[in-house]
Amino acid sequence: MDEIIRIETPTPFGVGTANSFLIKGDVLSIVDVGTKIPAAYEALEAGLKAQNYRFEDVEQVILTHHHPDHIGWTDAFKNAAIVGHAYNDYWLRRDKAFFDYQRVFYKQQLAEEGVPELYNRWVEKMIREADYMGTTPLSTILRDGDTVPGHANLIAVETLGHAQSHFMFVDERASYAFGGDLLIDFVASNPLVEVPMGMTGLRPKSQLQYNASLKKLASYDLARVYAGHGNIITNSTELVAIRLEKQHQRAMRAYALIDAPLSVFEITQRFYPTKMQVELGLTLSSTLGQLDYLEQQGLVTRTIDDKGVARYEQV
Ligand SMILES: [Zn+2]
Repeated sequence: MDEIIRIETPTPFGVGTANSFLIKGDVLSIVDVGTKIPAAYEALEAGLKAQNYRFEDVEQVILTHHHPDHIGWTDAFKNAAIVGHAYNDYWLRRDKAFFDYQRVFYKQQLAEEGVPELYNRWVEKMIREADYMGTTPLSTILRDGDTVPGHANLIAVETLGHAQSHFMFVDERASYAFGGDLLIDFVASNPLVEVPMGMTGLRPKSQLQYNASLKKLASYDLARVYAGHGNIITNSTELVAIRLEKQHQRAMRAYALIDAPLSVFEITQRFYPTKMQVELGLTLSSTLGQLDYLEQQGLVTRTIDDKGVARYEQV
């Protein structure tokens, strides 16, 4: 069986540290590569050295998703193939068409959510996250159900929601998975609003995708989930049930606040009065997620007013 070694790296983000996992199999691979800050590079170097390896020895970098605390140091692994979901490449390649489209997409999105224009600077803040990301593009694009090269029993399973590039990698025989940020022991993952793959079509309903992905994870009998942050998870089925129940409760708390036709921004102001000031993107995403869920449950309706703002109302 493949030996798995955890390497923890610091991040500049609220989540704390991130996990990378070295897989010693027929091929020497690493799952996720931290944030592009010097302290994370040093932590990776020290973690490899403890196993008598250098960056050059690693043959493959496997990416769970494109967020900066996971794809930071692709450039450090000079001899490695980089494998993951095609969506990672928009960021790793700094795809100009994607970045242009992203600005249009978010401005349109904020307008529809009824966010005053003075908050538009937030769009640039989000796009600047690319500074923490590597620039070595994918050498192999994985699709849902593909086997990871060099690891005959490890299967890529598309699990969108937290990110539009998200895979978990499942080894059913050995009863484990690399879960990325699908399931974290100490915090619920945020269903971020992101540009759809292919840059066309409607906004992905991230919370609904995420719930479906959690159910997908729970459908496997896994002894261990190697998570992107925090501890290795040994009670994934139970934890999925807890996450889904808590999300339902969060949605019902949002539901209780809707006493008139309100925009996403107005509901966020009521739901996260202080947190909204510092974490606009995250709080809007979370509120929108609850509203998508309530709409799916038939509890709210959504209409567009004469200014193009979406308004939600209890049924
Ligand atoms: Zn993460």
